[in-house]
Amino acid sequence: MTGKIHSFESFGTVDGPGIRFVVFMQGCPMRCKYCHNPDTSDFPGGNEYTAQEVAEKALKYKHYIQKGGGVTVSGGEPLMQAAFVKELFTILKREGVHTALDTSGINFNPTDETIKELLSVTDLVLLDIKHIDDGEHKMLTGHSNAKPLQFAKYLSDTGKDIIIRHVLVSGITDNDNYLLKLKEFIAQLKTVKAVEVLPYHTMGEVKYEKMGIAYPLKVVNPPDKSRVENAQNILRGEL
Ligand code: SF4
Repeated sequence: MTGKIHSFESFGTVDGPGIRFVVFMQGCPMRCKYCHNPDTSDFPGGNEYTAQEVAEKALKYKHYIQKGGGVTVSGGEPLMQAAFVKELFTILKREGVHTALDTSGINFNPTDETIKELLSVTDLVLLDIKHIDDGEHKMLTGHSNAKPLQFAKYLSDTGKDIIIRHVLVSGITDNDNYLLKLKEFIAQLKTVKAVEVLPYHTMGEVKYEKMGIAYPLKVVNPPDKSRVENAQNILRGEL
């Protein structure tokens, strides 16, 4: 089958352990105000590839990605094309390649067999929790956080390794009460291997300009180092 893909990165170092071949899928139902990949949002864009073609591209780098790295499928939102990613990961697992899924969990459905099958060939889930407060999550992304949180619990209950990622945005997620609430939630999960705080940055702004759309967070500055450390300390349970 074919998947709609926005782009590839051959030597990714920030989306999972080690050196990774990263596949950015096209299409995302969310509309995060800080999205730095707004050009991945619309499903009609992107190019079509078969799972075999993408696997072959990734396997060209097998020598590099084998040693502690692997392949990460990111987005956009990879669960929108779960059947394609399942096929791709099935090929990669056969080749002994580590697989990671970078997702917001917004498309999770506990009765969806394709997602379950995809998870059976996924070694690690990088789960982006956008906001722990449901109202704020809706303001930030246009959607409730119910599914992402349900997905986190499902991954924990089924023994799937998780890295939690959280974008720190001044005035939105950079708030000790919310961070403590998020920490409480993470503490209930049994399979969290790491928590990553990603400082909000304005690098996406240029893309919005090129696309001729208004940048939603124009007046927000990136958080300073001390606030990033504060968030890391809270979320990693050191405060
Ligand atoms: S989930 Fe990711 S790709 Fe989708 S809108 Fe949010 S930041 Fe952008």
